[in-house]
Amino acid sequence: MTDTPQRTIDAARGAEDAAEATLRPQTLDDFTGQKASRENLAIFIAAARKRGEAMDHVLLHGPPGLGKTTLAQIVARELGVGFRATSGPVIQRAGDLAAILTNLQPRDVLFIDEIHRLQPAIEEVLYPAMEDFQLDLIIGEGPAARSVRIDLSPFTLVAATTRAGLLATPLRDRFGIPLRLVFYTAEELRLIVSRGAQKLQFDLTPDAAEEIARRSRGTPRIAGRLLRRVRDFASVGRASGGPVDRGMADAALSRLEVDSLGLDGMDRRYLRRIAEHHHGGPVGVETLAAALAEARDTIEDVIEPYLIQEGLVLRTSRGRMLGERGWRHLGLVPPATPPS
Ligand code: ADP
Repeated sequence: MTDTPQRTIDAARGAEDAAEATLRPQTLDDFTGQKASRENLAIFIAAARKRGEAMDHVLLHGPPGLGKTTLAQIVARELGVGFRATSGPVIQRAGDLAAILTNLQPRDVLFIDEIHRLQPAIEEVLYPAMEDFQLDLIIGEGPAARSVRIDLSPFTLVAATTRAGLLATPLRDRFGIPLRLVFYTAEELRLIVSRGAQKLQFDLTPDAAEEIARRSRGTPRIAGRLLRRVRDFASVGRASGGPVDRGMADAALSRLEVDSLGLDGMDRRYLRRIAEHHHGGPVGVETLAAALAEARDTIEDVIEPYLIQEGLVLRTSRGRMLGERGWRHLGLVPPATPPS
């Protein structure tokens, strides 16, 4: 983790969680987008309810801000069970996890965010808990140490990760329901922005909602944040009432240096680095991280996924390369392909 100031369009969780909570959808029907995941979850929830059993464990993976925590909460609500949340880095000792697990009520949902950051020794505790709802704990040390087995209430683990690839195979295999979340379409985000504006009682024209959606990097968390910033600008920058239109939304977003594709100064620095210092690449991610003074994780989890999906950057076996769209976005001409 770096301690650089929060970027307006950073999809990572930030200090605005309380404001975000207002915009969080509460039911599966209210949850826009992620059609495949939503439909699958609806079936598994209905089946678990019908049998009166704990639902199978769910692994949600995808970039930050796409709705993993929101879905986990919705699963608990729709199952009509309790919800308990923690995260990989918070669980320091096996005893911490044991305390959480032994306090669960039958069929509760336990949400573990950033599960890829769980320590291996703690993962070992999780395996029998997930599989047989049992805890094997070692009590005492040295020759006096003995193992005790504790029965747990059946529960559903909903885990979230930005990178399923970092999960140990035995852990990954224990999730019966793996779901990959994808970036939202502009139309889905437009709906999310319009609904968000209604919830915030903020009058926004449809084309202003479309403008915010288009510049939200396919990410609801960013859409919500941009919506709130546009509202701030509108509330102090205008003498008269009336809805906020596209021109005002555009002016606010431009002042925040969020460009036409939704990229900010950090993204553009990343793109320009590859163009200007590495002639378009390939260049290794470590080199980029050092040059930009950013953690490698931030580059890989937060900055790159959207740039790659949009074809601005290509990930190759030799490193990152600027895509043709990346060159054009910087206002540069891609170099001619050398004759092979
Ligand atoms: P993640 O856990 O993947 O980082 P969250 O579930 O915390 O993301 O979602 C971030 C914010 O984005 C939520 O507070 C909510 O306001 C908004 N959000 C996420 N998914 C949706 C959605 N499908 N519809 C509307 N808003 C959403």
